[in-house]
Amino acid sequence: MIKPLKKKNVYLDHAATTPMDKSVYQEMMPYFSNKYGNPSALYNLGRQALLDINNARTKIANLLHCQPDNIIFTGSGTEADNLAILGLAKQYEIYGKHIISLAIEHHAVLKPLEELKQSGFEITYIKTNKQGIVNPIDVINAIRPDTILISIMYANNEIGSIQPLGEIGKGIIKYRKENQTNFPYFHSDACQATGFLNLDVEKNHLDLMTINGSKVYGPKGIGLLYYRRGLKLKPLIFGGGQEKKLRSGTENVAYICGLAKALELAEVEKIKESSRQRKLNQYFWQCLQATVQDIHINGPEIGDLRLPNNLNVSFRGIEGEAMLLYLDEYGIMCSTGSACTSESLEPSHVLKAINLSYEDAHASLRFTTGKHTKKSDIDYVIKYLPFIINKLREISPSYKPNIYDKK
Ligand SMILES: *Cc1c(COP(=O)(O)O)cnc(C)c1O
Repeated sequence: MIKPLKKKNVYLDHAATTPMDKSVYQEMMPYFSNKYGNPSALYNLGRQALLDINNARTKIANLLHCQPDNIIFTGSGTEADNLAILGLAKQYEIYGKHIISLAIEHHAVLKPLEELKQSGFEITYIKTNKQGIVNPIDVINAIRPDTILISIMYANNEIGSIQPLGEIGKGIIKYRKENQTNFPYFHSDACQATGFLNLDVEKNHLDLMTINGSKVYGPKGIGLLYYRRGLKLKPLIFGGGQEKKLRSGTENVAYICGLAKALELAEVEKIKESSRQRKLNQYFWQCLQATVQDIHINGPEIGDLRLPNNLNVSFRGIEGEAMLLYLDEYGIMCSTGSACTSESLEPSHVLKAINLSYEDAHASLRFTTGKHTKKSDIDYVIKYLPFIINKLREISPSYKPNIYDKK
């Protein structure tokens, strides 16, 4: 294989995590040195830390259009999802043990749901269409008198499909009115949506929403859960009673302030970056189609129903994992349909749920751009990727050309 003359690093895995923004880093620095006080302490150094946490909370509340005391900081997006689902289920199980969700959710949602199933809960997973988008009517029709929670992700991490939260929320409110009940509550995992979509919890009629720092140029290992006033949750972690007794443990002041900074930045850059990255991915997709045959896009067409930074493509006859390693040789970083469970041969649960064949799922690559991705980065990929694909296809025993073209 030809090696690039001048190898550069092209990071196209922003759905896995983003580099931290410099200004976020600067915001966090003081807390690793002189601002080390414990927010629970009564002297000035501690009071200042508490003040800084609550400033961060207020800034974020303004972005989400909620009250500051309806935000709980957690140790990750995963923890916030667990607190939403397990915390709510434990609090309200006497009212019913039925939950509605999607098969394409992140494992941070699917695993706690499986856990609840062990303790007698029934989970209904609504099918999406081939693009990975759920029909709001299907969600509302699945509500039963014992449904206490509906958990639907805002945007999918693998195929970028965006769910119609606002419409689902409207349907839920209508159901509650007609049946004079507070149930079901409505949760959304918004980790992938944070940098691109509207985070107003009222607009989407959400009772709970998960966000993390790792996907929006903030630090990894920090998340938050918004929960509606009046809604009660049972804690998963017990101890000193921090975060209104919902999440004990000394607050991670640096990361909390970093998360607030990251979210403020994201809000400023959202519109510009959404349109810029959508165009970039449109360009990328057009170049791929022009240079490689037998490929197809997984998830919605590039447009309003798809995250602007996501391009998930199956390259017929190619093993995604092999391709990933070849691309790495060229400094190109992306992921494949078996990224999260790479020890197993099972393809991604998301690609399976949208009815992709075993081969197509294994032949998939996910490219996710970020705010530092330039057109020259895409040009670099296009310079080498088609060549690698063709080489791999030549030695692939199963590859027969033009499978998609014949359809
Ligand atoms: C990354 C991600 C998570 C997990 O967040 P962590 O902060 O890594 O725990 C949950 N849901 C979605 C949709 C994600 O993309």
